[in-house]
Amino acid sequence: MSVNLQTPIDYLKGVGPNRADLLKSELSIHTYQDLLNLFPNRYIDRTRYYKINELQQNSAEVQIIGQITSFKEVAKKRGKRLVVTFQDDTSTMELVWFRGQKWIRESLKTNTPYVIFGKTNWYNGKFSMPHPDIELVSEHEKNLRSAMQAIYPSTEKLSNKGITNRVVSKIMQQLFLETKGKFVETLSETIKGELKLLSKSEALFNIHFPKSPELLARAQFRLKFEELFYIQLQLILKNLIHKSKIKGFTFDQVGHYFNTFYKEHLPFELTNAQKRVLKEIRSDLGSQAQMNRLLQGDVGSGKTIVAFMSMLIGLDNGFQCCLMAPTEILSVQHYNSLHELCKPLNISIKLLTGSSKTSERKEIHESLENGDLQILVGTHALLEDKVKFKNLGLAIIDEQHRFGVAQRSKLWKKSTTQNIPPLGETKGAVPPHILVMTATPIPRTLAMSIYGDLDISVIDELPAGRKPIKTVHRYDNNRLKVFKFIKDEIAKGRQIYVVYPLIQESEKMDYKDLMDGYESISREFPMPNYQISIVHGKMKSEDKDYEMQRFAKGETQIMVATTVIEVGVNVPNASVMVIESAERFGLSQLHQLRGRVGRGAEQSYCILMTSHKLSSDSKTRLQTMVHTNDGFEIAEVDLKLRGPGDIMGTQQSGVLNLRIADVIKDKDILNQARYYAKKVLHLDPTLTLPEHKAILYTYKQMSKYRNIWNYIS
Ligand code: ADP
Ligand code: MG
Repeated sequence: MSVNLQTPIDYLKGVGPNRADLLKSELSIHTYQDLLNLFPNRYIDRTRYYKINELQQNSAEVQIIGQITSFKEVAKKRGKRLVVTFQDDTSTMELVWFRGQKWIRESLKTNTPYVIFGKTNWYNGKFSMPHPDIELVSEHEKNLRSAMQAIYPSTEKLSNKGITNRVVSKIMQQLFLETKGKFVETLSETIKGELKLLSKSEALFNIHFPKSPELLARAQFRLKFEELFYIQLQLILKNLIHKSKIKGFTFDQVGHYFNTFYKEHLPFELTNAQKRVLKEIRSDLGSQAQMNRLLQGDVGSGKTIVAFMSMLIGLDNGFQCCLMAPTEILSVQHYNSLHELCKPLNISIKLLTGSSKTSERKEIHESLENGDLQILVGTHALLEDKVKFKNLGLAIIDEQHRFGVAQRSKLWKKSTTQNIPPLGETKGAVPPHILVMTATPIPRTLAMSIYGDLDISVIDELPAGRKPIKTVHRYDNNRLKVFKFIKDEIAKGRQIYVVYPLIQESEKMDYKDLMDGYESISREFPMPNYQISIVHGKMKSEDKDYEMQRFAKGETQIMVATTVIEVGVNVPNASVMVIESAERFGLSQLHQLRGRVGRGAEQSYCILMTSHKLSSDSKTRLQTMVHTNDGFEIAEVDLKLRGPGDIMGTQQSGVLNLRIADVIKDKDILNQARYYAKKVLHLDPTLTLPEHKAILYTYKQMSKYRNIWNYIS
């Protein structure tokens, strides 16, 4: 009878109730399958034996043959420890146990050959090994030793309770014995053939007990591929289901508004990237499915015009459109620039924010409902229940990372009124098309994994003629030179940002730094020759706006601010961005801030001010900023420094729960996995071909258990 992998781990020979409890609580191993999928962290060479006189400080785990010459109980304030003198033909060292001394003392013999294994410490001029794996040489020789012995994840509690790596390895062997090492295949013959993958059983065997480095590498590849393949399959299926189920308005006209604007009022030649993205959007809008698209583009890449032209397509088809931005300042700015573009086309556009007056609101509500208002721009205020559209066809969200999924879905419900579903069969309202825009570039591979339910467009090109921003790193003691530089720029008619960090926990200190900075700048740049604006989070939003406007109009030359200006403001005449305590900012924040300059025709500069004390991560961040302006390159470095956990969306996506693959390091495997997932679904969207039986089964199991590694059974 074959063993069922859902069998509780307690039944495995050599486990027993105590060990089972520990495995459950410490490593979440409940079943045979969980154990099988406990993948090693790394491998070490157990064919090599060291002599004590060969040991080096900071060496990794070593294995030594020798004998015990004496036992000693040492009482310390913190409790007793057992110290054992261990000797080989070159020297002596100590083995130390802090727990379980009695049992250890009784089970060990002097003058008998043992093999010990573990990490050594160098302490008081002597090597010691705490809690070694220890085994009689006679026992040791019975076991197969490999140059690639698996080292499993563990916890302090497990090793204290005697569940050492050797024990885990032993029960793993037992599992292979009981199951005969035969496991259900989860991939198709085609995929296995084309990629020359090991079978599931071979891969699992070699991941735990590698027969050679080559087989280990192939086992790792196969399992990583499999893990990523099923994530991709799931995401792509979700997207396909979405497209087939969720009907959208079909915008099949490209008419008066779009064409007139394109022919007569386009303020500049579109970049190729902008054209490509517009095409992608047009094709979505013209299909019968609801668009759900993410538009990524670096700061200054020109997303606004793409948004506007997409709205024109909506208007051409008789629909209303809206644009939502995360802050008042940003929505005002969007409103102002869109308003300009709308004028020659006679399009009605309004702004709705938290500070809109009641009378204005009333007017907006009415004109929205009767359809007179064509475009509405605003903040979260758009999401209020009172805001009802006659026929909202396209909703655009700027700076996606500031909004959650919940808000996105709220927008979905905004086109509530008597729309007749275009294909007749959808019950209820048809949701508007959704375009979310973000200036926080996420490496494409990661974006694919976390925004699987969105299609992705990328503007990967800046408008021609932009001068790259020159970025330098200066230490605090060079401040006078920096001030001199600022004076020269102001003399040329430019404007300057000086930004201070603001981090919640140290808020008080940060405000003090900001105010001190403001004072010293005020001294250095005195009125009436110089006018200075200041904006920070403790100000009322009217006051902030007032100061922002003064700066935007050129009435002040310097804007001293906390990071509230991080997102989206557009003052093309500002050419210098000074970032104080730059070492305290994250890379993407630095990049966003830098994006505030370099928007005009003039050469722009970014000056990163720091003290001399810098961590190595800070140094990497600063060097990256100095070396490149490319948001995607910066995002890659950021991802390497921080890991994917800090990126919005990763929590929901499951990429953090990967067992064996790593979305960053295994980018190439991810691409392959995505390619094959697409290929399989293209050929067989319902996974009904006999060829895909294993895949369908695995996919179903996976959905059932909500975990990628729980599906083989
Ligand atoms: P972002 O992608 O950061 O939102 P914007 O849409 O605000 O960028 O565009 C930044 C600036 O570049 C704006 O002043 C805009 O008018 C200008 N711009 C956008 N596209 C082009 C283009 N193809 N050629 C020249 N200037 C452009
Ligand atoms: Mg923008």
